[in-house]
Amino acid sequence: MVLRMGGCRCGNVKFSVGGAPSRIGICHCTDCRQESGSAFTYFGVWPAGQFKSYGQTKEHEGRQFCPKCGSRLFALDDTEAEIKLGSLEDAPTGLVPTYELWIKRREPWFRPLDGAEQFDEDRA
Ligand SMILES: [Zn+2]
Ligand SMILES: [Zn+2]
Repeated sequence: MVLRMGGCRCGNVKFSVGGAPSRIGICHCTDCRQESGSAFTYFGVWPAGQFKSYGQTKEHEGRQFCPKCGSRLFALDDTEAEIKLGSLEDAPTGLVPTYELWIKRREPWFRPLDGAEQFDEDRA
């Protein structure tokens, strides 16, 4: 089974995800833009049981970040772990998004990703 390691910029928080993700996407929504400070979020979702983390995080609206360096990391619920894929150690990750959310907020210079399902807002 593939084990992927990730963490924050300062090393305070580390995490791992095992096996293949359930899905991989990109989101252009206003929340993701503001939270990331970037034009979109690139994320992957794994079953909660495949995720482990070490080190203390802080949380805002369910999203976990490192309280020392501010890196945005993941969001967890009982069934799933949503990981910000830019926090994985190995780059490029080789993980290809299969869908894009909130494309009505997408910057015009960012073209639709080949083969990725397109949603105006959240998935129906
Ligand atoms: Zn940190
Ligand atoms: Zn979003």
